[in-house]
Amino acid sequence: MWKKNKSKGKIEKSFKYRLYLSEIIKVIIDKDLEICRWLYNYLRELRIIEWEKDRTEIKYTHQQNSLPDLKKLYPFLKEVQSQVLQDVVRRLDKAWQDFYKRIKRKEKLEKLGKKAKAVHYPRYKQFGRYDSFTYTQKQDRIELKHGKLWLSKIGWMNIRKHRKLEGEIKTCSILVKNGKYYANFSCGIEAQPKLDTKLISLDKQIGIDVNTSEDNFWVLDTGEKKDNPYFLEKAGDILEAWAKKLSQKKHKRSKEDKTKSSKRHQKTKLELAKQAEKVANQRKDFAFKEVKWLRDNYDFFGVENFKPSKIVEKGKGKSKWYSPKRMYDSALSLFLKLLWDKVAETGQKVVKVNPAYTSQTCSRCNKRHPVKQELKDRIFICVFCGLELDRDVNSARNILYKAQITEFGTNFVKQVHASP
Ligand SMILES: [Zn+2]
Repeated sequence: MWKKNKSKGKIEKSFKYRLYLSEIIKVIIDKDLEICRWLYNYLRELRIIEWEKDRTEIKYTHQQNSLPDLKKLYPFLKEVQSQVLQDVVRRLDKAWQDFYKRIKRKEKLEKLGKKAKAVHYPRYKQFGRYDSFTYTQKQDRIELKHGKLWLSKIGWMNIRKHRKLEGEIKTCSILVKNGKYYANFSCGIEAQPKLDTKLISLDKQIGIDVNTSEDNFWVLDTGEKKDNPYFLEKAGDILEAWAKKLSQKKHKRSKEDKTKSSKRHQKTKLELAKQAEKVANQRKDFAFKEVKWLRDNYDFFGVENFKPSKIVEKGKGKSKWYSPKRMYDSALSLFLKLLWDKVAETGQKVVKVNPAYTSQTCSRCNKRHPVKQELKDRIFICVFCGLELDRDVNSARNILYKAQITEFGTNFVKQVHASP
């Protein structure tokens, strides 16, 4: 994934690799995670005490500076790299900044006499819930050599690099997921200079309609279409079935009952997590491939400013998480994010446009029809100029047109479109 970096011209890119570890290293990592979790919960407790006393907000730097004294009190903290501990403080602070924000929002609502949801403290990290820690590259604490990764205080680890790491390593996070170990590097790399969009020829400019129907993942203004990947439909059903199985296996217990869930229940849970991971990987591969194809063929992209539907919040039932619609939405979100992020590296251009009226405006005469056509009508028919066109292609053309207006201005675009 990509992130914009504050320093000019640099982009952050992350690379995730699987680690193959000896039992000893696994023990060290698990122990480090436990120490991090302990520290997180300990500092969280201190923050709660101060907050409940007189609503004092403990500052990040305060907790950071308390680390040396804490190490004297609790020598086991010394087993973990100092920067890793600092990162724990940082993560906790982030959670608390969110908490303060939510408190402020609640107070604002209450002042207006509105009902506000209760605000809870950042969560206590249960066993196994603290699943990653982060090293920062300073004074050679991270080394990558001959297919092996070295971290100070941990040692050498076998790493499977399926793709090349680029740029300069900034941080390395170790994470454990479903019993597997990974290293996630965040690297700073140079951004390509921006293309002059005015120099991009028209045949390299494309409008993409993404939220079209059950049949298509995207439709281009050229008429090209991409079918929805089959696994998205299937995945929804499979995950839903698993979730159902999971809810059946859970024994009904009172809220106070803190006993561990049954072995069988845990096994099902792990199986569900594995299935979900598999789907997520398929989704990722698909999105990567689509974005690559588009970037190889085009330089300027008009896309709608896509907002995933909020069906999740409606249904309280957990299985709603796995609905096919949600699957499509998350694949689309990922696809668009990738497209957006990738062009940051190459200097290509994505313009997001408001999708309003793109399906009820004629892409030839630009006149808007008063009513939206029904979804089942696959052909857009213009009552003004007589245009008959696939409705998604019509939308994609409108999206491109809107994007061009945003980028080049109305006059420039009118000139271009007036010439036959
Ligand atoms: Zn028309």
